[in-house]
Amino acid sequence: MVLGTRKRHGPVVFRAPAYSSILKDPYKRSNSVKLEFTPTFEVKEALLLFKESVSLQNDELIQRTGQVFLSLLNDIFGITAGVELSVMGKRPSRRRSDPLTGKRRIMSSVHGKYFPNKAMIALYTLTATGRRVAFKTLFNTLIHEFCHHLDYKHPTLGLSASLHTKGFYDRLNAIYAPLKDV
Ligand SMILES: [Zn+2]
Repeated sequence: MVLGTRKRHGPVVFRAPAYSSILKDPYKRSNSVKLEFTPTFEVKEALLLFKESVSLQNDELIQRTGQVFLSLLNDIFGITAGVELSVMGKRPSRRRSDPLTGKRRIMSSVHGKYFPNKAMIALYTLTATGRRVAFKTLFNTLIHEFCHHLDYKHPTLGLSASLHTKGFYDRLNAIYAPLKDV
C-alpha cells in the first residue's frame, strides 16, 4: 500500500499518492493529484455577483466581481501567490480563407488564457464576431484558467507545465460541479 498525502485547506482537500511529488513527468504528476471542494457561502455569493455583472453586460463590473471570486478561491485553496484577472473585449481568433467561397472565416478562437509568469488570467467577454459571451461559458473559462493557475502555483501540484490531462479535467469538475447551479 502506498501512503498518500491529504492536505486540507478549509473546504479544500488535495489527495496525492506518496510517490506523486517525485514524479518528474508533469503529465503523470498532473494525473496523480485529486481534489475535493465544498464551496463556502462567500464563494457562492461572489459567483452570484459575477453572474449579475455578466447579465448587466458591464465589463468593469465583470472585472471587479470576477477578481473577488478568483481571490477568494485563491485564498481558500491556500495559494500564497496572488491571481490577477484581466477582462478583455473580443476574443483573438485565427481566420482562414474558405477555399470554396474565398471568404475569410474564423477557424478557432480562445475563451481565456493563463499567464504563469504574471499569475494572470485573461477573460474575453466578446466572441470573435463581437457578440457577448454567455455567463456559463465565462464561468467555465474562469474555472478552467484557475485550474492552470493551481497547476503552477499550488504546492501540492507545482507543475512545470500545465496540461489538459484527465487529472486536470477532474480537478476542474471538482470546482465547477458544486457551483454550476448557483
Ligand atoms: Zn487550458
